[in-house]
Amino acid sequence: FATANDEFVWGGMENQTLTTLCYGCWNESLMVHEFAHQWFGDMISPGTWADLWLNEGFATWSEALWLEPYNYTNYKNRVLNYAGTYLSQNPGWAIYNESWIENPPSNNVMFNYAITYAKSACVLHQLRYLLGDEVYFEAIKSYAEDTANFKFKTAVTDDFATKIGEVAGEDLHWYFDAWVKQPNHPVYFNEFYFTEEQPGSWQAHFLTNQVQSNAPFFPMDLTVMVAFYDGTDTLVRVRNMENNEHFVFEFDREPGMLYFDPNQDIVLKQATTLLSVPQFNTFTGERLLAFPNPAKEQVSFFSEVGFDPDAKFICYDATGNQVLQLTHLSGNKLMINLDGWKPGIYEAVLMGKNTKTTCRFIVVK
Ligand SMILES: [Zn+2]
Repeated sequence: FATANDEFVWGGMENQTLTTLCYGCWNESLMVHEFAHQWFGDMISPGTWADLWLNEGFATWSEALWLEPYNYTNYKNRVLNYAGTYLSQNPGWAIYNESWIENPPSNNVMFNYAITYAKSACVLHQLRYLLGDEVYFEAIKSYAEDTANFKFKTAVTDDFATKIGEVAGEDLHWYFDAWVKQPNHPVYFNEFYFTEEQPGSWQAHFLTNQVQSNAPFFPMDLTVMVAFYDGTDTLVRVRNMENNEHFVFEFDREPGMLYFDPNQDIVLKQATTLLSVPQFNTFTGERLLAFPNPAKEQVSFFSEVGFDPDAKFICYDATGNQVLQLTHLSGNKLMINLDGWKPGIYEAVLMGKNTKTTCRFIVVK
């Protein structure tokens, strides 16, 4: 490597096996980063400026990987540092921007550390979680050794996604389309509750909810830990491909708590997971559950026994005025659009022939 004088404006730069460093900039992480560019940069170059993240993501992620032989925690802490940098400095654009193909932006934008380096490294870490270590490392090795398509050639994001998917044995464009091409990150506001179906048989209900307004939905595999009253716990993993999914897990011991993403595998997120309180009809044991609650754009009501087609569904505002009435109900999920609703507390009433089930919910704007 070579050390430049203070007119060199970059920290370090890899130039086909001659790494240049800024004056006084010798350090292990920077050298690892530049060495990694011999594979991701020199050996496989980005097809367009929009694919620059394939260089900097891999080089930055490699800095973390370099720490892993000492201790996995060192690797993970470095990744969490990247996530913290991104979350606190996110300028709000995506990692991949199609317009950069024809019109690359200024260096300040294109080489923005929070996005092109830190967030891209986190996207690779999350890919590692999604695929598992064995498949992930096999996939990136296969990508780097693919002389027909990538090695000593160039790579674009979609072809990279196709290649990783081929090795993994499943189409993974959904992951890259969301996490690389959409700006920002998911803000989870999940809920859960437990029910005892019969003696000795419990269900844990997990309701996923993303509330960010600055990006569409982010699909992902979600891990939850369910802890039981007998002191044991278990991990459950589900693939969450649309918003407001309702997952039900069956257990033969009583669950006491549910934790979302207990290992912080999804580092690019903000998350709140609350115990929701289903409202009971004391007569029939029927539950009516509003979700999400508080709700912003829409609210769904779940009835575990299914809505009676002869029942009426009525919503009242806090002053007792009826704001909605629905009849001819069906299924066990009822979705209501909250366009035009004022913020406040509402009461939903499901009026059957001889039954009345109520549920309070909050509308925020
Ligand atoms: Zn770099």
